[in-house]
Amino acid sequence: MSRNTIKTTALAALLALLAPTASAQDLLARQAPVDKKMRAVDSIAIQRLMQTEELEDPAAELYPNWEDSQINLYGSVSLPDEYKIDLRGFCMPTTNRIVTSNYGYRPRFHRQHKGIDINANKGDTIRAAFDGKVRVVDFQPKGYGNVVVIRHPNGLETVYGHLSRHLTKRDAVVKAGDPIGLAGNTGFSFGTHLHFETRLLGEYIDPAKLFDFAAQDVTGDFYVFRGRGRGTLLGKHDANGKAGNDEEIRYNSSESPAAKAQAQRNARQAARTRNHKVKKGETLSSIARKHGTTVDKLRRMNGLRKSSKIRPGQILKYS
Ligand SMILES: [Zn+2]
Repeated sequence: MSRNTIKTTALAALLALLAPTASAQDLLARQAPVDKKMRAVDSIAIQRLMQTEELEDPAAELYPNWEDSQINLYGSVSLPDEYKIDLRGFCMPTTNRIVTSNYGYRPRFHRQHKGIDINANKGDTIRAAFDGKVRVVDFQPKGYGNVVVIRHPNGLETVYGHLSRHLTKRDAVVKAGDPIGLAGNTGFSFGTHLHFETRLLGEYIDPAKLFDFAAQDVTGDFYVFRGRGRGTLLGKHDANGKAGNDEEIRYNSSESPAAKAQAQRNARQAARTRNHKVKKGETLSSIARKHGTTVDKLRRMNGLRKSSKIRPGQILKYS
């Protein structure tokens, strides 16, 4: 065989590998529509433009206004019955994995802890959890200390408290992972940590239902908010959100199998140690027995009233 024939044969074999069903005509057809490619490029440009516009006024369909002076300002706004929050494109606000205080009732202070505390060293970089726009940059000496609030296109607002300093400004458009401050111990705080809150229209959501700090990952691709303290996790990396099951966890195919397996173990372990998914037929007392706790504790931790009913699929925190 001549050198050219070998080359051609090798190319044909390669093409056969890449597109085993492709005929020569298909190959010609694929070369043809240059204008189609141009249109694809156009639509990407338009998409980018739309994304940039969305960041200028994130979740505009949900929020009535853009107000930059107060953290709590949605008292009179009614919440949607159901709201699907897209958790993809996240960045963990800190690489620290140690949760020092969970969301929920704190007997020590006789009040609800409306966020989660994550261990930090002074000066650790704190990052925006999602793309968004900075709504509040403030110093509140009796509360949050140096605090940043970001509104995101997925409907969430995230709050970052007790920072030693801010690294962003009001109305700044940020991308997930952009540094927004340094960890600190300012305001009502006893030791350096990040106080992190997740809210939808001012309604607190336990950040542990969305972010798994131990595993450094989100708990799923989507979280469906359903009224106070209720919600359902949908399968990870399920673009249609059809799985409806937080135990059915699927991972990004770009990760190595070993990394995938480890991440899966971490996520399962973290889920086992903190959250319980209510199964059909379970009651608060059967769940309390199962995890060696009491019904009262479960109610307190999950903000349930005596009259509250639990439903299959609901996620309850028990430790
Ligand atoms: Zn806190």
